[in-house]
Amino acid sequence: MAQLAIDGGNPVRKNENFLIFGSPLIEEEEIEEVVACLRSRWIGTGPRTSQFERDFAKYKGINLAVAVNSCTAALHLSIKACGIGNGDEVITTPMTFCATINSIIHAGATPVLADCDRDTMNISPEEIEKKISPKTKAILIVHFAGRPCEMDAIMSIAKSYDLFVIEDCAHAIEAEYKGIKTGCFGDIGCFSFYVTKNIITGEGGMVITNDERLVGKIKTLALHGMSKDAWKRFSDEGYRHYSVIGAGFKYNMTDMQASIGIHQLKKIEKYWEKRRYIWNKYNECFRGLPCFLPKEPEENTKHAFHLYTPLIDIVQINKNRDWVLDAMQAENIGIGVHYIPIHFHPFYRKTFGWKYGDFPNAEWIGERTISLPLGPALSDNDVDDVISAFSKIMKNH
Ligand SMILES: *Cc1c(COP(=O)(O)O)cnc(C)c1O
Repeated sequence: MAQLAIDGGNPVRKNENFLIFGSPLIEEEEIEEVVACLRSRWIGTGPRTSQFERDFAKYKGINLAVAVNSCTAALHLSIKACGIGNGDEVITTPMTFCATINSIIHAGATPVLADCDRDTMNISPEEIEKKISPKTKAILIVHFAGRPCEMDAIMSIAKSYDLFVIEDCAHAIEAEYKGIKTGCFGDIGCFSFYVTKNIITGEGGMVITNDERLVGKIKTLALHGMSKDAWKRFSDEGYRHYSVIGAGFKYNMTDMQASIGIHQLKKIEKYWEKRRYIWNKYNECFRGLPCFLPKEPEENTKHAFHLYTPLIDIVQINKNRDWVLDAMQAENIGIGVHYIPIHFHPFYRKTFGWKYGDFPNAEWIGERTISLPLGPALSDNDVDDVISAFSKIMKNH
């Protein structure tokens, strides 16, 4: 039997060849555009940002898009633009990144968690309905790992209780549910172009909506609270005074970021194909190992394949998940954990009184989940190394 590197055996990859988790693919077009942007000396918010917004809206088949400097900013602005704040509740999932929760808190509202489903890892519509109170104003859903949420059920709940729906699409730019693209169901869709995401701008985010009124508010809040025409200051239409109509933020995207985004977006489907291929290959090669593999995408949906997240059968291997993380690192393969459930973090426990046992499905996933490298930058050899290392560890635990 092959000895594991964690037990002193030879690692699958050499130390100097450590496979970084979530490393992006950056090609010549992006590099040339950034250089052209720098040479133009228009490096703030300008024509490239506008182009990226137009291209992104077109890709999503929606009217309006506002580029911002992160998905966290996008979420924060979306909640504020819906007029949600003090005394209001926003229902979301415990199986998400902390930014989803922080954006609710920073808007002044209270996050209310509704447990996820074990198989899809997405927020459960039945659990959402149980958490609705007279204070509930919105449902903030996360299309986890790129798998679209159960939108029929969620939209029908939102309709009957008159709630806003905000979609955290940080994992799910390409995803679709019954022919409708994620981010286009609810009132607002939010996207991330952080370095590990499906397409990247270094740091960056996008808000999409069909609602002119919401876009006006978002643009104003994203730029110091200056009236939305202030965005036109970044043009050569002549001098414009600005008026501050609220205490806003500094969340605008720059043309240096947009330069990368414009070209990444052109390759979005090519990158998606590559991730789909790797995702399917993992699912085939890992059959029979002591873990619960991701469920096939639901019929009539498009999965964005952002993360590949098998769940370790910790009972069968009689070791905890963190041991598997250490064993993978020892083989020189970088891994991730998406996520430690929100209610396990000390700040949220202290602030909201959440405790172990409150969200059993999120806990079940949180104790077992591991994310393996998945991205267009991986070579066939990298993918084979991930498969060898994970198989070796799961067979020789
Ligand atoms: C990455 C991520 C965010 C935050 O995105 P940033 O662009 O880094 O602010 C929010 N929600 C989820 C689910 C994420 O994965």
